[in-house]
Amino acid sequence: MKDLQSDVPITMEAGVGTRPKEGTAPADGSPVKNGRRLQHAEGASRPLDSSSRELQPRGAQIRGNHRVDQTEAAERFIAAPQHEKMHDERLWDLRQKRDGQMHAIPEWEELRALASAIKEHTLTHLDQYLEQFEQNANANGVHVHWAMDGEEHNRIVHGILRDHGAKTLIKSKSMLTEECGFRSYMARVGIEVIETDLGERIQQLDNEDPSHVVVPAVHKLRGDVAQVFATHLGTDPADDNVHHLAEAQRQATRPLILHADAGMTGCNFAIAETGGITVCTNEGNADLSANVPNLHIASVGIEKVIPRLEHLAVFVRMLSRSALGSPITQYTSHIRGPRAGGEMHVVLVDNGRSARLALDKFWTSLKCIRCGACMNTCPVYRRSGGLSYGATYSGPIGLIIDPTFNRHKYSALPFSSTLNGSCSNVCPVKINIHEQIGAWRQVMAKNHELTFVKKAAMSAAGVLLAHPALYRAAIASADSALNGLPRFAIYNRLNAWGKHRQVPHAPRESFHSWYKRNRSAS
Ligand code: SF4
Repeated sequence: MKDLQSDVPITMEAGVGTRPKEGTAPADGSPVKNGRRLQHAEGASRPLDSSSRELQPRGAQIRGNHRVDQTEAAERFIAAPQHEKMHDERLWDLRQKRDGQMHAIPEWEELRALASAIKEHTLTHLDQYLEQFEQNANANGVHVHWAMDGEEHNRIVHGILRDHGAKTLIKSKSMLTEECGFRSYMARVGIEVIETDLGERIQQLDNEDPSHVVVPAVHKLRGDVAQVFATHLGTDPADDNVHHLAEAQRQATRPLILHADAGMTGCNFAIAETGGITVCTNEGNADLSANVPNLHIASVGIEKVIPRLEHLAVFVRMLSRSALGSPITQYTSHIRGPRAGGEMHVVLVDNGRSARLALDKFWTSLKCIRCGACMNTCPVYRRSGGLSYGATYSGPIGLIIDPTFNRHKYSALPFSSTLNGSCSNVCPVKINIHEQIGAWRQVMAKNHELTFVKKAAMSAAGVLLAHPALYRAAIASADSALNGLPRFAIYNRLNAWGKHRQVPHAPRESFHSWYKRNRSAS
């Protein structure tokens, strides 16, 4: 699956970028137009008001099949205030821009309903549309392959590369290839993979996974990127000017693109009616990956298929607006067949999607178009960083997809949510995300996947909530305790909730007793 490309914290293309003219930029180096600072991501990126460099917090610790502890990694992220503040503000900025775009389209809710209906129809006729796509792609001169899982996907791609004697592969960002562990597989078989999306390349050089489906390096400060480039590209570690960093990346990557043996892209939408694929990017790097080398391979998750070309308009109108708050991606590329004299392969990948389709409460998660809006709005995600989830997908959509890959390993993730429902409200394809998160919690409880502390707390809450008199007595005692106990008795290491929060003062009287005293007789 090919997602939108990163714009953080630098948006210059890896192929044709230009430096701002001297004297046109304000002191922080961001560009201006007609006397106004640009409002896109580059314009919003600004140096932090701090002279000391804060080390970048790293993601969750992964130990084989052990349960991922998101809260531990989130605590470390919160303990790095510069990173946490930037991350929170940056993503909230995207959320606000998304709101602005949404309000400018009166038929937004109709579009959402239509997008959801198209996806649900396609998913319930998936075999039919996939076969139609294959037939039409074949007729366009495209070789179509089917992969049951990530391992098979990697083997197929390796086989194609081996048959062509290819040793270097340029690729644009694809969450599907992240699912498949593609880069590490290719490293094992001696193929050099070069990510061409700027954010993804930063993550590749830093040996980290993407932390967001659209903006993969959004958790990094510009100083972090300067350190990565200094180590791998030989730039000045003290120079964190975003334009200089983008230019350094452009200079380093351009020759690799021009001399690569093969190119790879993902796919945002595969159109059954035409056999073509559509790839949405902001850097144009998918076009380079698809067209510069003679050999193009596209990795496509089977849920990416849509029936007709006219349906594309619905999704294209919503994708970038939801993702970055921009009306459309800079590049919306339609690829129907190999370039003249070239060869094109499409690998259709299942990797657990058929099994997810059979899950009664969770199958609609396959409607996801990977816009990232649910992540941008989520208060937990914004303050804990995507790498704290220790999985391919993070944020609200991750909480409902990751357990389908490994129920035990990701059993704690559905609890990393406040269930406020904002994710469901912003989702352009109307996935009931917060309800599915709640449903996963029930599955985990039934499967005995809760920790001892959580189980004990939930059991106690269950008893209290089932007995109103007991509940009121407990609330009254808790209120008195909060008002009377010394601070150390409330805020200690046993109270994880209170580590970062202050309990508000308890009211003198509960609403229930006030109501009983004042209104119950009337
Ligand atoms: S679940 Fe919805 S909001 Fe979240 S990434 Fe997918 S399409 Fe976007």
